[in-house]
Amino acid sequence: ATPTSIMVGTGRAAELGVLFRRGTALEGLAGIRVIAFDKTGTLTEGRPSLTTIRPAGDWTEDAALRIAAAVERGSDHPIAKAIVEGAAQRGLDLPQTSDEQALPGYGLQAMVEGRRILLGAPRLMTREGIALPEIPGDTGADTPVWLAVDGQAAAYLAVADAIKPDASRAVAALQAEGLEVAMITGDARAPAEAIARKLGITHVEAEVLPGDKQEAVKRLRDRLGPVAFAGDGINDAPALAEADVGLAMGTGTDIAVEAADVVMVSGAVAGAVNAHHVSKATLSNIR
Ligand code: ADP
Ligand code: MG
Repeated sequence: ATPTSIMVGTGRAAELGVLFRRGTALEGLAGIRVIAFDKTGTLTEGRPSLTTIRPAGDWTEDAALRIAAAVERGSDHPIAKAIVEGAAQRGLDLPQTSDEQALPGYGLQAMVEGRRILLGAPRLMTREGIALPEIPGDTGADTPVWLAVDGQAAAYLAVADAIKPDASRAVAALQAEGLEVAMITGDARAPAEAIARKLGITHVEAEVLPGDKQEAVKRLRDRLGPVAFAGDGINDAPALAEADVGLAMGTGTDIAVEAADVVMVSGAVAGAVNAHHVSKATLSNIR
């Protein structure tokens, strides 16, 4: 594309709330075959709420929730906010914690009232050799969070996050352009599949550890061709940098924005559709 057509395209995209930080991305986006989305905060609002508490053994809901919320108080993960908010709604007093440690892609650990607490994904419990009881009647559609105290499962919690209102239409529009639409997420398989199904996304990579999103982008490129990746989190930065075109949500972390070629200012999924349209129009005008 000529410098002038790039300038015109960049200006038109900006009017639509899409900032091209690099002119090369305007050209690159027209040639992608795949667009992969992070889930939480990208396809969903990223503000989950607590939907379920099922205490195990002698635990009560409130006894489990006060410990979970105390441990999450220092975390800025969206799941943490949901759990802290859930405890606040019940007016629970939170105990002191010490030795808090984030376990990226897994959850958290800490000491509370002299007991060793683990909180996070089922795979954290598996890794630590903690047996998980069956949850009768659970559909698996929400994101599971397990609480373990001194090596024993104490409660099953679940959080759920609303899909962005324009996500379904945006996915359909990208598919109508002939693109393969994929999801790459650290969340558990069942909730990831449940959201993908609602959006018409068939290619889902779930339970991807933060360091592995980049590898997932490479694999998509090897199989299908040039890849765009859209995300919002700190853990999306390597995948944003790896992708042929990285698109960050303007509502996301600064680290994601810095790693991206394109910023979708409002955080709407339609930003990806607009970006792709402007890119294709820019290239076809000059041919
Ligand atoms: P994503 O944002 O794609 O879900 P993350 O790597 O941030 O990916 O998290 C992966 C999974 O690790 C989460 O779905 C959750 O199960 C678990 N996890 C991470 N941080 C926390 C936390 N603070 N509290 C509970 N679970 C967590
Ligand atoms: Mg995210």
